Amino acid sequence: MNRFGVVPVHPWNPETESIERAAEILRSGGLVAFPTETVYGLGANGLSPDAALKIYAAKGRPQDNPLILHFAACRDIEPLAHISRRARVLMKKFWPGPLTLVLPSKGVVPREVTAGLDTLAVRMPSHPVALALIDRAGFPIAAPSANSSGRPSPTDAQAVANDLGDRVDLILDAGPTAVGVESTVLDLTGPEIILLRPGGCPIEEIEATTGEKILLSGGDDHRSPGTRYRHYAPSVPLLLDREEGVRPRAMAIGGRVAWMGMMGPEKIFPDGEVHESLSIVFSSAENYARGLFHAIRTLETRQADVIVAQWPPSPEGLGRAVRDRLERASSRE
Ligand code: AMP
Ligand code: MG
Repeated sequence: MNRFGVVPVHPWNPETESIERAAEILRSGGLVAFPTETVYGLGANGLSPDAALKIYAAKGRPQDNPLILHFAACRDIEPLAHISRRARVLMKKFWPGPLTLVLPSKGVVPREVTAGLDTLAVRMPSHPVALALIDRAGFPIAAPSANSSGRPSPTDAQAVANDLGDRVDLILDAGPTAVGVESTVLDLTGPEIILLRPGGCPIEEIEATTGEKILLSGGDDHRSPGTRYRHYAPSVPLLLDREEGVRPRAMAIGGRVAWMGMMGPEKIFPDGEVHESLSIVFSSAENYARGLFHAIRTLETRQADVIVAQWPPSPEGLGRAVRDRLERASSRE
């Protein structure tokens, strides 16, 4: 372990000793940052009010923004939430994986986790380190993304250390995450399935499984409190290439214009205004999602004055999640 409390762990066969050490910290009410397939999570005992409160304090997270509970076995959900037939179908098909289900709560989970709602958000991550940690801890782990509130989510241990530092007791480092954006969040508490947040699980696949059309919530912040807050904000302005007059606007902000997208910057910046070291190009929507948050941090480190991001041409697959994150990252509210 180095001085930041970062413990390297094998991503597929996590060392028992490291997992036990992290689990012990969770059992004694501490905070452990750990990899999931989506982003790094900031974990605490999800059944302990005091432990859950530490998450809010470490992140500077508003307390009316509820936490997702992470499980390693479906049977552990039964005492805590009502699982409908539809929920079971989705669990069977997409778990473990990047899909979070909001279910009617049985009122057992502390209000510090649910933010006082009568619903509970549950997920089973597929990352072997996350599963081993939950299993070893012996209780569900409450875990939002391991970044300070409002900042881009961390997709590697270094990003967690840089952002949260000693506000976390231990960081398990299993390298970069595979999906790169957070889970898809579905509200299953009503007659229709409502999308609360697009994410790693494409809604086309969910619709094909259930045979039902998913309602797009359109940022209904009453249902999912987290969507109300400013999110994923880079330390420099982020503009979208689809905005009117983006080229002069970017250049008015500063000389170090950065670019990220699924094609090069030449169409928007034909005169070589974007230096090669400030241009990040992804070969697919999946790769855009995987690298999005890391790219923002990299361009910040390279002292970009402004980042111009390409709006993914298609809302299908991971494109929908990338669009959502870019929209929030570029918001000036
Ligand atoms: P994160 O902070 O990245 O973990 O995001 C968690 C998301 O899940 C936030 O947008 C929360 O508002 C949402 N969420 C968690 N629990 C619930 C719940 N019971 N009902 C609706 N949304 C929830
Ligand atoms: Mg988050």
